[in-house]
Amino acid sequence: MDSKVSETKSGNFLKKIADFIGKDVKAKNETKKLTVVIRILLISVMVYFSINGIFNNIKLDLMVILFYTVFFAVFAGLFAISYSCRPMVTLGVFNLGMIIWICVILHLFGWNIGVQHFLMVLLVLFFFSSYKQYTRKIIYAIFLCALRILLFYIYHYREPLWPLATADENVLQIINTITIFWCLSVVVFIFSNNSQELERKLMDYNKQLEELANTDVLTGLSNRRKALDYMEALINKASDYAAFSICICDIDFFKKVNDTYGHDFGDEVLKGISQIFKDELKGRDLAARWGGEEFLLLFPDCNGDDAFLKVSHLRNKIKAMKIKKGEIEVGVTMTFGLTEYDFSNDLSASIKEADEKLYLGKEQGRDRIVY
Ligand code: GH3
Ligand code: MG
Ligand code: MG
Repeated sequence: MDSKVSETKSGNFLKKIADFIGKDVKAKNETKKLTVVIRILLISVMVYFSINGIFNNIKLDLMVILFYTVFFAVFAGLFAISYSCRPMVTLGVFNLGMIIWICVILHLFGWNIGVQHFLMVLLVLFFFSSYKQYTRKIIYAIFLCALRILLFYIYHYREPLWPLATADENVLQIINTITIFWCLSVVVFIFSNNSQELERKLMDYNKQLEELANTDVLTGLSNRRKALDYMEALINKASDYAAFSICICDIDFFKKVNDTYGHDFGDEVLKGISQIFKDELKGRDLAARWGGEEFLLLFPDCNGDDAFLKVSHLRNKIKAMKIKKGEIEVGVTMTFGLTEYDFSNDLSASIKEADEKLYLGKEQGRDRIVY
């Protein structure tokens, strides 16, 4: 029980910290992501100052502590202004502060503690910080590269102001390496997460668009375009021996249904028939709304005889369906034209053949399958 209470307390505390760091900037229409990343970097650098300050206090004198305290205060001030400044201003001040601090540290402790690698964090942060602005990015990269080369020539061989023992240099080198890797990971993780998230959303959105473009609004079945694409795909993929069957079907006397019970009722009939197609067609079989009250059914890897059995089943289901309007129950029948696509013919000729069979069925009295 007690451990649960303390768990929720620490959970709340962490949430408060996360809310505080993630608090929005005041400027409207600005992404807060950059500011949040800079805040995390500032906290990391302040922790780093504290660790370095404590470590150097043991080894060196009070001046060093004073020096770290001043930088700690400057970065804490920068953390505070990140709540009111625009993100790009915070970024600019952060870069300036870091560059000054890197130069001062090199001057005091020399090249061997590896503080110059913090320039890489600035480079990566700048490249992620804004969309486009390629010229600025390239200029800044050249500037940082030149600065690093310059610092190398100034400080690599020069005796630092406060020289350290090799063992202490090694400890600071390790602290710097860990901090730099941490800072780089924060920047890359948060920004790459962002772009991956956007990519995922875009893919979902494209999928939705594709679905919308391929779906008939009234019935939810595939539309004519999707049916044609599907048939093209079947033809492109199929082996020489595979066959598929095409059936075009049409509601009998549908105009009469509309005229007698109204257009909305006609829509209900179309939906009812579509539902039967959805329920009864399995696997790769496809039903599409081909036109007003005409549907096209596709049976991949299915010869005409097998397709005939499937169509007979559908015909019976549709015949048994009743759509209600008040007390009245209305049933409809359909006529079907079925043909087998045999790869020697072209697709439009096969569709035409199915269509001709459908109209033959209409002429012969409707409510039948012509195969
Ligand atoms: P047949 O047996 O020869 O096919 O006769 P029919 O009355 O079904 O054929 P006709 O082509 O004369 O009429 C088709 C009707 O389908 C006319 C049109 O108003 C109706 N229709 C087409 N699309 C829709 C729709 O989306 N909703 C409704 N309610 N009716 C539609
Ligand atoms: Mg028709
Ligand atoms: Mg009709």
